[in-house]
Amino acid sequence: MTTDLVKPQSHHAARGHAPRDYSLTPLNVYWETTQACALACRHCRASAMPEADPQELSFEDGVRMLHEIKGFGDPLPHLILTGGDPLAKARLFDLVDEAHSLGIEMSITPAATPALTRDVVEKLKEHGVSGLGLSLDGSCPERHDAIRGVPGTFDRTRDAMRWAAEFEMPLQINTLVSAETVDDLPAIYRFLSGETVSRWSLFFLITVGRGKVLQPLSPEEGVALMEWIHGVARTAPFTVATTEAPSYRRVAVERMRAEGFTGEQIARSATGRGFGIRDGHGIVFVSHRGDICPAGFLPLSAGNIKTHELADVYRSAPLFEVLHDPSHFQGACGECRYRSLCGGSRSRAYAATGDPFGSDPLCPQDVN
Ligand code: SF4
Repeated sequence: MTTDLVKPQSHHAARGHAPRDYSLTPLNVYWETTQACALACRHCRASAMPEADPQELSFEDGVRMLHEIKGFGDPLPHLILTGGDPLAKARLFDLVDEAHSLGIEMSITPAATPALTRDVVEKLKEHGVSGLGLSLDGSCPERHDAIRGVPGTFDRTRDAMRWAAEFEMPLQINTLVSAETVDDLPAIYRFLSGETVSRWSLFFLITVGRGKVLQPLSPEEGVALMEWIHGVARTAPFTVATTEAPSYRRVAVERMRAEGFTGEQIARSATGRGFGIRDGHGIVFVSHRGDICPAGFLPLSAGNIKTHELADVYRSAPLFEVLHDPSHFQGACGECRYRSLCGGSRSRAYAATGDPFGSDPLCPQDVN
């Protein structure tokens, strides 16, 4: 199981800081603590396994990884502990304590297995984890469990949602968007509207890992859904966002323009919603073996935590340098007037063409 937990820029801006320069410091560091997971989700990026990889980072390597995050300086990025199932990571709470002592704010995306109990949620809160991310890919047990591969996962997820509310942990729900789930999204939205949720993030399928067995939306279906998301986001009782669908920003800006919003209002909205962040620019991913990649869905390593400084790689490795500058992108994304706000999903471009700087095939090519 793998999810994305994106902390919006507004949290940072709301504390009175200037917007950060994403070419120097990411907003979010994702650490795939382990590939071990008891679930077998049909779209798992990590193709997670029941047991941990023997080459997984050791506890000492993990501590080093946390100290590397400090190397970015103030403001520190937000750390997302992901997997596999991070609850399967050996000495997880010692690592959490180390991160907390370093002043690193963190969230976690556990898998909905029997290991995720009310006591564990309470303990995570007590040890300083500030947010919980859970996956929900269906509005009912039949649909969700079919995607997740294990009966009972929907019920466990719903229980964990309620424990998060009980312990006042901000909750992000991550939902897969693919041909198999798209018709169920309104029902999922209605279900979530009755729960305590901070943020609903719609993850547009990237066909890597086990996700290759599922079908992505066509560009036209993608735009139609993004327009629905933009409408829903206005009145939703929680933030509604997308993952690996940066062209949603183009749809949002064009809708706001058509509705008469001024350029200043649009710019303010864009800053508050993390526009401009994309794979490798605002986001960095460290794999369970320590490889430093632009995103979990873009498995190109620019260094390893055991041998490289995380901040150095993020700021100046050739792969990241190009990702920081969208004028180097190819095709439609390289010429697009939205390339700074959007820039396309580098992961999807890579999955589709083998070129991480190519065009995002989710976006209609007539946007210029
Ligand atoms: S062409 Fe690329 S940069 Fe432009 S809106 Fe589409 S995905 Fe974004």
